Amino acid sequence: MINNNYLVQLKKIFKEDNMPDTTIQANDLDAQEIVINEVRDSVAKLCSDFQGEYWRKLDREQGYPTEFVKALTDAGFLGALIPEEHGGVGLGMVAASVILEEIHNQGCNAAACHAQMYTMGTVLRHGSDEQKKEYLPKIADGSLRLQAFGVTEPTSGTDTTSLRTIAVRDGNDYIINGQKIWTSRAEHSDLMLLLARTTPLNQVTKKTDGLSVFLLDMRVAKDNGLTIRPIKTMMNHATTEVFFDNLRIPASNLVGEEGKGFRYILSGMNAERILIAAECIGDAKWFTKKSTNYANERNVFGRPIGQNQGIQFPIAKAYTQMKAAELMVYHAARLYEAGKSIGEEANTAKLLAADASWAAAEACVQTHGGFGFAEEYDVERKFREARLYQVAPISTNLILSYIAEHVLGMPRSY
Ligand SMILES: Cc1cc2nc3c(=O)[nH]c(=O)nc-3n(C[C@H](O)[C@H](O)[C@H](O)COP(=O)(O)OP(=O)(O)OC[C@H]3O[C@@H](n4cnc5c(N)ncnc54)[C@H](O)[C@@H]3O)c2cc1C
Repeated sequence: MINNNYLVQLKKIFKEDNMPDTTIQANDLDAQEIVINEVRDSVAKLCSDFQGEYWRKLDREQGYPTEFVKALTDAGFLGALIPEEHGGVGLGMVAASVILEEIHNQGCNAAACHAQMYTMGTVLRHGSDEQKKEYLPKIADGSLRLQAFGVTEPTSGTDTTSLRTIAVRDGNDYIINGQKIWTSRAEHSDLMLLLARTTPLNQVTKKTDGLSVFLLDMRVAKDNGLTIRPIKTMMNHATTEVFFDNLRIPASNLVGEEGKGFRYILSGMNAERILIAAECIGDAKWFTKKSTNYANERNVFGRPIGQNQGIQFPIAKAYTQMKAAELMVYHAARLYEAGKSIGEEANTAKLLAADASWAAAEACVQTHGGFGFAEEYDVERKFREARLYQVAPISTNLILSYIAEHVLGMPRSY
């Protein structure tokens, strides 16, 4: 188990070598390559302590991978995107993507904690100096968990601007009423980034106006108007529904300006899409390795099943899909680091990577025949986990709608 902050050490090495900037620059490819390889090896080493049986047991019990999350936190990985001045490691989106990709490539699952990496971006970009000072160093060192992201609601679904949770200003407080669904990790998080309506829909000119973001301290809110109920799902995901019943929170928990929250959330969603796409790349690589090994080892009719093109082709096809998606994921990550507008690239990366991992998952089950359904092979568990990314954090249809409307200029369909 890694118990020293490896990434911080790595950054120090580069400082001693007089790197012009400890943040990896997009054009500094040699330095980036070295760091990326170090990061990848380090993540792989950490994951070697969390092999199949660890995840199978949690899956059976729908348990939370506390030890795994602690190991990632202690190694500094979850603070990768927090700048050094706020106590983080200050790596860029490429390195952060590699961390999540490698976790999945090793057969582990980052869904229990990936939000700790990117949800803080809204606070970093739009929070006050006091909020940054108070929260970011603790999020970076893991003493405070910001892993819950409350956007989706049961009635509005993908139509986010129709959400019904309201926050009404009352003196120095806001009073919150409403409900969220699929608020993952709420039971394992101290803070929640919450999107609520502060100006009623019929009083705004644009539906995207009048929504605000709050940094909700759930440690205080639980039993004071906040109720969390777990939802059992087909994979082990620690997701919940949450209810707000006259929950009173200090107005100082508002992030940025009142009414501008939708924009703040959107800017964070591109980071989320790239990072989850990177996880899909890792999954696709894991499935492909698993398929290839089994195809080479399993003998039926006196020869390896991998000698049959009917077995080879779906695996090879999924591999080529993954290679193309991988290029798009890291292209989007580099543009993100360069501060470019990346709606098209982040969405495209998410769509291609989720499709590639799903194709690889399907090929893997088929290659394994009956054993694809046996728990001990891990294939069925990873198959269930991979299916999510056709739907969340944004569904394939909604990405296609975005591309059709915003990139190709066709009329909005809804
Ligand atoms: C395990 C899990 C974890 C999640 N974690 C979180 C979380 O932490 N925080 C959070 O806020 N949300 C979370 N979500 C919610 C997730 O982002 C949504 O489920 C997803 O965005 C789809 O929304 P919906 O379920 O409301 O589907 P709906 O909006 O009801 O859509 C249902 C289906 O119809 C399709 N559809 C809808 N409108 C259109 C249209 N105009 N054109 C074509 N097709 C359309 C959709 O693509 C989808 O396939 C999670 C979901 C799951 C399952």
